[in-house]
Amino acid sequence: MFDAQTIKSFKSQKTPFYYYDLGLLRRTLDEIKNHGLSKGYHVHFAIKANFNLPILEEVRKAGLGIDCVSGNEIKRAVEAGFTGDQLAFAGVGKTDEEIQVGLDHDIFSFNCESLQELEILNGLAQKSGKTANVSIRLNPNVEAKTHRYITTGLNENKFGITADRLPKLFDMLPGLKNISLTGIHFHIGSQITDLQPFTDLCNRVNEMQDLFEENGVRLDHINVGGGYGIDYEKVDENPIPDFKSFFEVFDRNLELREGQQVHFELGRSIVGQCGSLISKVLYIKEGATTNFAVVDAGMTELIRPALYQANHRVDVLTSDKPHKTYDVVGPICETSDTFQKGIQLPEIERGDLVAIRSAGAYGEVMSSAYNLRDRVKAVYSK
Ligand SMILES: *Cc1c(COP(=O)(O)O)cnc(C)c1O
Repeated sequence: MFDAQTIKSFKSQKTPFYYYDLGLLRRTLDEIKNHGLSKGYHVHFAIKANFNLPILEEVRKAGLGIDCVSGNEIKRAVEAGFTGDQLAFAGVGKTDEEIQVGLDHDIFSFNCESLQELEILNGLAQKSGKTANVSIRLNPNVEAKTHRYITTGLNENKFGITADRLPKLFDMLPGLKNISLTGIHFHIGSQITDLQPFTDLCNRVNEMQDLFEENGVRLDHINVGGGYGIDYEKVDENPIPDFKSFFEVFDRNLELREGQQVHFELGRSIVGQCGSLISKVLYIKEGATTNFAVVDAGMTELIRPALYQANHRVDVLTSDKPHKTYDVVGPICETSDTFQKGIQLPEIERGDLVAIRSAGAYGEVMSSAYNLRDRVKAVYSK
């Protein structure tokens, strides 16, 4: 977990704060290099998972690109030293201004999510005297076997276009003079730990490739998105996801054409485990069936438990007394502001420190000022 030195350093910091283990991040990126980049795959970090500059610096040094879902994310990626040709831009609701940001930076790919968006993009590209590189996001209707709020690849979800729209797309393409359709894009959901959905996805990709070729469209890029999950329970046993098995699924199942490039957009699996939310116990309250440990971090710092019923491990850093039963709750005036219910923890008292683990992805980026709270800070290891 954390060594004594690190815990000691936590005691001199104002809580709550995010702590990022950059050493773990580097080791995680090394695995991606060894098992993904080594196969010639292109990996884009989904910047929406964590947009802190020291994190982006490690990602850039490892040779990854960036996957953006807003104009400001494009700007942040550029600020962090990435070039336009390393950036993909997805999202169902890109505004004209955001599209313009992408055009201005000559990004690698607009991942377009509707036929109307293609028309708008074509018009804006024409005005700028440019040709936009586009991957069309297809909804593969693949069950991701994850929480329904983070499932994105079913027909009922708002993302991408469904197969029945494709004849219309093929009709439209010759008229879209300022668009170069270079790829197809998929993203089926998040926190997917079972590899079967990715195998299913590969099979859909192969079918789609055939269909595009039958309609005279040759694809340079296949973008299979992200969604690979992390182990929220055995955090210290599994700090790095099994990228070898993950990339092998695509290696084994994708039927690639000569010269075709494969792209991934991984977020959680890259940064999830390197971040913890460090918080101090404010009060212990004995309840009828449990003890409430009220900590100074809440859903304002980490909303995932309240939003997705996400389970983040809570470790006590400053007590090794015998265990008692606790509900670990935040200070915010919402019942859902609860991190854990009925868990066994070493007996804690006011002033003890806890670490809420696996919080590097979709943690700090979703923090808010609800209840007029101070914005949470970040602390980095060497
Ligand atoms: C969020 C998102 C990702 C990253 O998802 P993870 O589960 O964090 O890997 C990739 N692609 C798109 C289009 C996304 O919206």
